[in-house]
Amino acid sequence: MRLTQYFLPVLKENPKEAQIVSHRLMLRAGMIQQSSAGIYSWLPMGLKVLSKIEQIVREEQNRSGAFEIKMPTIQPAELWQESGRYDDYGLEMLRIKDRHDRDMLYGPTNEEQVTDICRTHIKSYRALPINLYHIQWKFRDEVRPRFGVMRGREFYMKDAYSFDLTAEGARIAYNKMFVSYLKTFARLGLTAIPMEADTGPIGGDLSHEFIILADTGESGVYFHKDWQEKDMVADISYGDDLQPVVDQFTQLYARTDETHDANTCPVDEADLMMRRGIEVGHIFYFGTKYSAAMGASVSSPDGEMTDLHMGSYGIGVSRLVGAIIEASHDDGGIIWPASVSPFDAGIVNLKPGHSETDKVTDMIYQAAIKAGRDVLLDDSTDSAGAKLARMDLIGLPWQIIAGPRSTERGVVELKCRKTGEVVEHSPEDAAAALLAHLAQKVSQKVS
Ligand code: ATP
Ligand code: MG
Repeated sequence: MRLTQYFLPVLKENPKEAQIVSHRLMLRAGMIQQSSAGIYSWLPMGLKVLSKIEQIVREEQNRSGAFEIKMPTIQPAELWQESGRYDDYGLEMLRIKDRHDRDMLYGPTNEEQVTDICRTHIKSYRALPINLYHIQWKFRDEVRPRFGVMRGREFYMKDAYSFDLTAEGARIAYNKMFVSYLKTFARLGLTAIPMEADTGPIGGDLSHEFIILADTGESGVYFHKDWQEKDMVADISYGDDLQPVVDQFTQLYARTDETHDANTCPVDEADLMMRRGIEVGHIFYFGTKYSAAMGASVSSPDGEMTDLHMGSYGIGVSRLVGAIIEASHDDGGIIWPASVSPFDAGIVNLKPGHSETDKVTDMIYQAAIKAGRDVLLDDSTDSAGAKLARMDLIGLPWQIIAGPRSTERGVVELKCRKTGEVVEHSPEDAAAALLAHLAQKVSQKVS
């Protein structure tokens, strides 16, 4: 993509309304535009990142054996009256009337809708287990929408729902999602720590929030210092017995301030870390709460009708865009992990019109395209300083920088955004080195 043909509305000034770095950088890098409080338009580069995160989440859900569906954003009130949550949900729910004066709502979550699908079609234990997920916009009229996409009113979520005959079956489903989350966040370049969470009235130990560390996080978190060395790349296949893998992670202490109690915490003070964190995912098992209320039962092997055991599993897809930036940035701007970067690399032509520089940058640009890479070529007439600052701001992992001074010496610069390291190469060698770096990214991704 040539920048002069692209839509990348970068802001020069720091937007006053942005209190945290991810919100500021997303606005400055032209990724989003606020429509109203907590509601955003996604501009081309922002949407690219959102879609890449969505795709990684989807691939890992599919790999765990879940099936993708798409449920509507608008739901009928009746379903929520059946479960009893229509009144309970309160002001966070956006309630709507259609032209026939029927009560509708913009879905804040989908337990009722998916339970309705299962009770209609699943009558026997033979159809179980099943896990259905979708990736869809949600609306919650949050009291205090803030921090850009991190706490929006309209936001994009992956929510999965598992259905099993027994509590033991539901635990297997839970463990699959647990492992799927470890794989997903590792691919996103994040260390997300699973923390024991409140299960509410149902009790039991089956609820975890996945939290990444960031000073601007809304939750206080407490965890054993060994988490910092823990390898989160869970390279494990999906058998039914994932309990040992889950135990490996859950036996190491990690709690949010909602469940941590200094008096009962088993970790020595010297080993206990206290930080702030961002919740990027939440999984829980809630038994037959919805199936019993909504009549979702199946015939069991002994012929009795049994209420389905359910779990639900969320990932904040749009929140992740901000969360990744919180975890990966410097004074110059964003530093994208290769797996979600909006472009694979950027090429800066410091002086369009200078024939040698044009020739060299075009050669590298074409070579990258030919190799199937998605690169951004800055062919604008902005000042050299503005171009370099913009390329750092938008955070592509690799940059090729070429201008009259370097090309006349027969070299260009290859820069790693993360380390800042710059290496001079001949244009041909720079193209080859760039493609080699990018190929490395792909092999990491599919492992
Ligand atoms: P929180 O405690 O942050 O309000 P929640 O417990 O309400 O989250 P869930 O209902 O479990 O969250 O939703 C699943 C995921 O959706 C969360 O882990 C989070 O990543 C994301 N999420 C929830 N609310 C918002 C929001 N207002 N804006 C953006 N993402 C959100
Ligand atoms: Mg909430």
